[in-house]
Amino acid sequence: MATTADPQSTTQGANQPTPAKGWGTYASDQPLQPIEFERRALRPDDVSIKITYAGICHSDLHTVRGDWGEPARPAIPGHEIVGRVTAIGSEVTRHRVGDLVAVGCMVDSCMTCDQCLDGWEVFCREGCTQTYNSPDRHTGENTKGGYTDHIVVRDHFVLKVPDGMDEARVAPLLCAGITTYSPLRQYNVGPTTKVAVVGLGGLGHMGVKLAAAMGAHVTMITTTPSKGEDARALGAHDVIISTDAEQMQAAATRFDFILNTIPVSHEIDGYLHLLGRSGRMVIVGALTPMPGFVGASLIWWNRAVGGSAIGGIPETQEMLDFCAAEDIYPEVEFIRMNQVNEAYERLLKNDVRYRFVIDMSHGL
Ligand code: NAP
Ligand code: ZN
Repeated sequence: MATTADPQSTTQGANQPTPAKGWGTYASDQPLQPIEFERRALRPDDVSIKITYAGICHSDLHTVRGDWGEPARPAIPGHEIVGRVTAIGSEVTRHRVGDLVAVGCMVDSCMTCDQCLDGWEVFCREGCTQTYNSPDRHTGENTKGGYTDHIVVRDHFVLKVPDGMDEARVAPLLCAGITTYSPLRQYNVGPTTKVAVVGLGGLGHMGVKLAAAMGAHVTMITTTPSKGEDARALGAHDVIISTDAEQMQAAATRFDFILNTIPVSHEIDGYLHLLGRSGRMVIVGALTPMPGFVGASLIWWNRAVGGSAIGGIPETQEMLDFCAAEDIYPEVEFIRMNQVNEAYERLLKNDVRYRFVIDMSHGL
């Protein structure tokens, strides 16, 4: 049974499934379109959230276009979500009606395995339930994400937006923010670290801001010369154009850490050569098969290459608190929901500076 924690608000009445509106697709070659469906009745540990803003991640596009295999349909994406709590289940104590909250890439996990207990719910032994295109752990129903008017999420997976944060610009932190914050923290990036961020898009621009805020010396590596000035404004100390062989040669062995956000399969030897002794490159962008690389690119200079998947819930809250304290926000371009297809085409053309956010604060 749902209850409301705010004495000012009226009780919800019978706890029934609620009609929901969203935008999604029925096939990979179709544009997104309005879709009506139902959100579940609240379980005792559920929170219902009226969504005000949702970011557009390149993963949303990969999913609905079938780049990672055919998703369940309709596919309703969105995993950078901000909104207000409108109702809570009977056992919820962490959130109150009216709170400003956020949801990222996960909405549930077993919460009992070693990974969940360690705060790495993303690696739940039973598989975490993702915010969209994932079977609900209780009903098997396909999850539907943030391109919707409201969402129902297990309380543990609902983040608190720190007081005073600008509600309109928080959403991209929930994926682009944590996906770049987590590897920077895992590998102790700090004032003595020389960091390069590859790809100035949604993830990359957060990587530059966060690494700079951690005190690192940050270099942007981009294919787009016209982004150089932006990179410096975001906090980069230096810029390298990756298509310029001379610039890449001159930067050999310069970096301790490379954060690689390129969204497609690509050769990595050219980037590995930029790492100095015991340097590491973390790939967060390309999930698809990659071409081979030369073993000597790793063996010489003791280099390593790895990956990183979003981050756990405690680290996501830590990232939000860090961004609030350091006044770090993404650069956003607001759109309305009916502009989402145009935004996808621009994302594919590398024409976004640097995250689209769907404004639903006045309705969908
Ligand atoms: P995005 O906004 O499209 O940015 C990607 C950037 O990569 C582009 O702006 C471009 O920057 C560069 N780029 C694009 N195509 C390239 C190519 N062929 N060669 C070299 N550089 C290229 O995408 P995003 O939202 O940041 O997402 C990036 C990737 O991360 C996506 O594949 C997404 O699915 C993935 N992702 C992973 C996780 C995770 O948990 N690991 C989480 C979220 C997203 P320049 O113009 O500067 O070159
Ligand atoms: Zn994402």
